[in-house]
Amino acid sequence: MREYSPADLLDLDRRHVWHPYGPMPGRQEQLLVESASGVRLRLAEPAHGQRELVDGMSSWWSAVHGYNHPVLNEAARAQLDRMSHVMFGGLTHEPAVRLAARLVEITPEPLQHVFLSDSGSVAVEVAVKMCLQYWRSVGQPRKQRLMTWRGGYHGDTWQPMSVCDPEGGMHELWQGALPRQLFVGAPPSEFDEAYADELRTAIERHADELAAVIVEPVVQGAGGMRFHSPAYLRVLREACDEHGVLLVFDEIATGFGRTGELFAAGHAALSPDVMCVGKALTGGYVSMAATLCTSRVADGISSGEVPVLAHGPTFMGNPLASAVALASIDLLLGQDWRGEVKRLEAGLLDGLAAARPIEGVRDVRVLGAIGVVQLDHAVDMKAATAAAVREGVWLRPFRDLIYTMPPYVTGDDDLARVCRAVCAAAREG
Ligand SMILES: *Cc1c(COP(=O)(O)O)cnc(C)c1O
Repeated sequence: MREYSPADLLDLDRRHVWHPYGPMPGRQEQLLVESASGVRLRLAEPAHGQRELVDGMSSWWSAVHGYNHPVLNEAARAQLDRMSHVMFGGLTHEPAVRLAARLVEITPEPLQHVFLSDSGSVAVEVAVKMCLQYWRSVGQPRKQRLMTWRGGYHGDTWQPMSVCDPEGGMHELWQGALPRQLFVGAPPSEFDEAYADELRTAIERHADELAAVIVEPVVQGAGGMRFHSPAYLRVLREACDEHGVLLVFDEIATGFGRTGELFAAGHAALSPDVMCVGKALTGGYVSMAATLCTSRVADGISSGEVPVLAHGPTFMGNPLASAVALASIDLLLGQDWRGEVKRLEAGLLDGLAAARPIEGVRDVRVLGAIGVVQLDHAVDMKAATAAAVREGVWLRPFRDLIYTMPPYVTGDDDLARVCRAVCAAAREG
């Protein structure tokens, strides 16, 4: 095999490889990661004097147990020796069956049926398909529209894009081409009765065309890192029940403890009709997501004119991903994850307080193991990233946001370092 130097790899990368939201050829500098272990990413070559970076991103919410975890490695290896993959049509296997049963067990009680897929965006597509097909099956085919609130993010494929915030977001370009969904204003952080009324009124007024309301519960992630009162979830649940609209929670970012509850729905002690999970599902090891639904939704679909859910990804229920997901869930639930997330929350509150007096900082907010510093201007990505790297930390700011959601295994010293890096990025970005 031909040897590539780091410079060769970066050159090939720039010429041939798309990166998230990137141009071709690439213009941004990429850091070449050689390996990762615990909370540290090891670079092939030093950047700003650092060979190792403490990961402040959990690889976009996913690597909650850190990297190269012996338990997850062992689960992957053991499964690899049995089979990495078999098709899921006409065949089934223990890892997927156990994973689905486990997800039913740990999510709100009414969610009973699990559709396994490859990524979060696909899980949202499946959720939308479930809702539209449910109404078609029960004889209300006009109910095809979705309602959501502004500030959301649900993925990059077509239906998810249609419920991402249409303004200032990443999918503005597609305004005319996407299905036109119903948007209400972004949820205020504190409970506001007037806003709750807006939610109720919109659902009531559009009930005959609405298939579902879809939201990220409690924390809006890539749409702006905003937090809101869980009481709005209750408002949505009640209005949806009253007016015959399904409720979908996209817990792809919030799931598996990140907000301080195992699922953010737990903050309001209620269940949606359909729920999506992904990201931390496999502890950041392999791409996998799941869409769960109630028996009412499943029964509706399965008694319709086309009595099946017509969706079936090639890699559905992938055994390797299922086995790692099971191990990751066991690892999480087998420890005091609530205590760990609380510890991180306290550390973030403490460490990010130093960002408040920095010029240009508009807001500092923390919830669970999520810390956000919002500026009053767009972040200078290059300067902010470099400032964090000089502190020995990996961060990936966007828009006016410098934020962190560290792995749950981040120690207090490393967490303090992440906070210092967020502050440095806020100062220089
Ligand atoms: C990341 C994310 C998605 C999309 O998941 P992918 O695996 O990137 O397709 C959808 N919804 C939310 C809330 C997310 O954070």
